[in-house]
Amino acid sequence: MYILTFSFAAVSPGMYEVYADEYSSYVGKLNVSAYSDNLKTFYGEKPVAGRTVSAKLSMFDMGENIKIGDKVYRVESTLAENASENIMVYCDSKDAAIKYGLKTEKVYRKSPSERTAAKKDSTSNSKKSSQETKKTAQKSKSGSEKETSGSKSVSTHISGKSLGKFQITAYCNCPICSGQFAGKATSSGVMPKEGRTIAVDPSVISIGSKVVIDGVTYTAEDTGSGIYGNRIDIYFTDHAQAQSYGLKTKEVFAAQ
Ligand SMILES: [Zn+2]
Repeated sequence: MYILTFSFAAVSPGMYEVYADEYSSYVGKLNVSAYSDNLKTFYGEKPVAGRTVSAKLSMFDMGENIKIGDKVYRVESTLAENASENIMVYCDSKDAAIKYGLKTEKVYRKSPSERTAAKKDSTSNSKKSSQETKKTAQKSKSGSEKETSGSKSVSTHISGKSLGKFQITAYCNCPICSGQFAGKATSSGVMPKEGRTIAVDPSVISIGSKVVIDGVTYTAEDTGSGIYGNRIDIYFTDHAQAQSYGLKTKEVFAAQ
């Protein structure tokens, strides 16, 4: 507050005060680039230039307002944990996204107590969207249950010893999820495939090995700068399905 008294002449003092106080927690200098793909956000809405950003859920909360440089944006989409950027800003044209390039920006967020308060607000304000998310989650759940029970009959997916609890996210091969690696093969050289490909930390799960998550056997085929320790990124073909997966903690087993 005290730092800002000199700039009151230029802007509405009330606004400036709130603005500065709100984003008091410095995250660090992060890699930020831009995208222009008009894919629906986590909330099932069209992205809005100047507001929508995609960010890694291991760093930020969905729906959280963050300050990049001197502008405030809202996290409305998931960025793959293995993307080299930390944040991607939505632009309404490809030219604008190219012009944005790759920047290193100072990023700020609200203080932990203010984030908790904002989360409460957004849960009460967006009941509808969370219900929709639930529906989607239920849909995909019943889908994967079918798969699992189907495969049970041929008695594959027998899990071996527990590898422990992992933080699990999902990604697809689009520019929002995969940044500069969009459309490309995995780091092991094969093209990613839904129901098979996961990205891992090779020092935890070696490339080429098979693990079981929720009864489905996956192959460790991809890596990424954000995937370290007990973290796994599951590949999906469909962007919306990857988005709705969110961040989960699950026990992972070695495949037998
Ligand atoms: Zn995607």
